[in-house]
Amino acid sequence: MLRPLKITIILGLLAIATFAQSGVVATAERISGDSFDYSTATPNGAQVYGVNKPSAAMLSAIDTGLTDLFTVARKNGYSKRLNYSDYTVFIARPDRTQDSTGAYSPDIAIGAAQYAGSVYDKGGYIYAAGMVISNNPCAFLIADHTKDLQRVSNVVRYEGEHLVLYHNDRQRYLATRDHSKSGGHPILQ
Ligand SMILES: [Zn+2]
Repeated sequence: MLRPLKITIILGLLAIATFAQSGVVATAERISGDSFDYSTATPNGAQVYGVNKPSAAMLSAIDTGLTDLFTVARKNGYSKRLNYSDYTVFIARPDRTQDSTGAYSPDIAIGAAQYAGSVYDKGGYIYAAGMVISNNPCAFLIADHTKDLQRVSNVVRYEGEHLVLYHNDRQRYLATRDHSKSGGHPILQ
């Protein structure tokens, strides 16, 4: 009976791995109100889910942001979760494409939660350039861009900062995770 038992255990582990990934997708869909029908990977191997088929420019901008993140993380002496394949990026439909000054700024509206009543609060929700969905596995949400791809790289690097800190420096992570109480980005210099 040893053999069937082994098979069961292996299948059980596979089911858990699959569930973890679908759990992250479900969370991203609940927060953004989008459905991520397209999945692919960046040239460097980060997992990407999109509302639409992600453009080559978006995929390359995500890689650039992660490269910048890993460089500054190493400079700070961090070594965990510095592989492209450690990251899952959700590209959501933007809820606005211009900020209050009229500048191109694709952002996502999310529940205000701890930002309620702060300068970020737009009436129960806030506009965010990006948002961490899960610390483990490392996953975050950004808005789709058709231009200013440098902004995509910056948002990826910035959201990634929270994840690198979570896995490498829990105290610094806790001190910087809530922007209504602490400063913004970049956190890592
Ligand atoms: Zn942040």
